Amino acid sequence: MNQKINLEVKKEPITLNVIDDKREKEKAVLASMIEVYCRGNKHIDRSEKELCPSCQSLLDYSSMRVDKCPFMETKTYCANCHVHCYKKDRREEIRQVMKYSGPRMIFKHPLMLLDHGWQSFKDKRRKRIEGRKQKLGEESI
Ligand code: SF4
Ligand SMILES: [Zn+2]
Repeated sequence: MNQKINLEVKKEPITLNVIDDKREKEKAVLASMIEVYCRGNKHIDRSEKELCPSCQSLLDYSSMRVDKCPFMETKTYCANCHVHCYKKDRREEIRQVMKYSGPRMIFKHPLMLLDHGWQSFKDKRRKRIEGRKQKLGEESI
């Protein structure tokens, strides 16, 4: 028996405020992850409140990318993006930060990590549904 699959992706209206909040939230996640990386790798002393120049520069760059991101309405996290607007060297730097800080966020910001997992799950699900839709569309031609 053929099972019917619901391919409708629920889209709720999204306001500018929601997009701005999302942008700020994403920048806060980046700042936390870069701080964990900077402190964990002893670029700065425990007492220091500011990032080292190199990590600060990476944070400024990443925040600027988030400010200019054209997908803010629908995106989850940059790791799931098909465009990757980062310059090659910056992309490698942020990849190192994510690799280092990702597992450590569970102690520092468990809710943030849970949210990341949930958003990634939703993103994968959305892509799977879009893939199925596209496949069905091609088959019906
Ligand atoms: S990598 Fe993709 S999702 Fe991330 S800021 Fe660039 S365009 Fe936006
Ligand atoms: Zn640093």
